Amino acid sequence: MPIYEYRCQDCRQKTSKLWRGFDAPQSILCAACDSENTSRVISSVAFHKSLGSKLQDLDPKYDRMVDTAAANTASSDENAFLRKSTPLSNADA
Ligand SMILES: [Zn+2]
Repeated sequence: MPIYEYRCQDCRQKTSKLWRGFDAPQSILCAACDSENTSRVISSVAFHKSLGSKLQDLDPKYDRMVDTAAANTASSDENAFLRKSTPLSNADA
């Protein structure tokens, strides 16, 4: 969903509006002074991203950082539990 920005002609404040659909109104009420004298700022149309697409855009280096951090934790050693346990053949009867 696109976010449209409007500049108030009266107080110069910017108001962002998440608009459902692509036919945004030419003006909205200013969030700061309630003036209707706003105009769309065309240059800075931003698109609202889903969390999924934000994660996809993350640099792969973060995956490696997470892998490295996880490798240094005790739970990363999948054989730790086996080493701690006593084999059945050695167990007291
Ligand atoms: Zn205003």
